[in-house]
Amino acid sequence: MLDSVGQMDLPKLIIFDLDFTLWDCGGTWCDCLSPPFTVRNNRIWDRGDRQIRLYEDVSSILDQCDADGVPMALATRTEQPPWARELIDLLGLSHRFVHAEIYPSSKLKHFAELQKASGIDFAEMLLFDDEMRNILEVSKLGVTSILVKEGLTRQIFEDAFRKHAAQRERRD
Ligand SMILES: [Mg+2]
Repeated sequence: MLDSVGQMDLPKLIIFDLDFTLWDCGGTWCDCLSPPFTVRNNRIWDRGDRQIRLYEDVSSILDQCDADGVPMALATRTEQPPWARELIDLLGLSHRFVHAEIYPSSKLKHFAELQKASGIDFAEMLLFDDEMRNILEVSKLGVTSILVKEGLTRQIFEDAFRKHAAQRERRD
């Protein structure tokens, strides 16, 4: 955990988008890939030899959230939910997330469902996503929403924790 952020100020739920946030699918969205997916040399490929991989800092960030006891969830708009689920599984991520909203729709629907399932206030949630329209929509709910340009990095993650803690302080 960051020294400057106390346990009290940690988010109660961290939500991640997938494409261009947690993983890279050979420069495209996962619903533009060509299954079947295969594992060769511990790497995941689609039929067109596009590699699906987590961005460099992601595994250690997820480990840190687990170590800090902060639950994690997924919210991702995709036209191919079964493909996304299979890739989550192949990457060994299935156990990480307490909720997963994976289907085309609006992020507002995803977040309404997450709120219902978790019972956690929007103001206690932290979102990472690479699309500005999602950031704008979800931040209106009161969720601390952080734009990721191309892949979540340790720097973005730590700055987000500080921003969330500061927003919390302003409300108290
Ligand atoms: Mg995305």
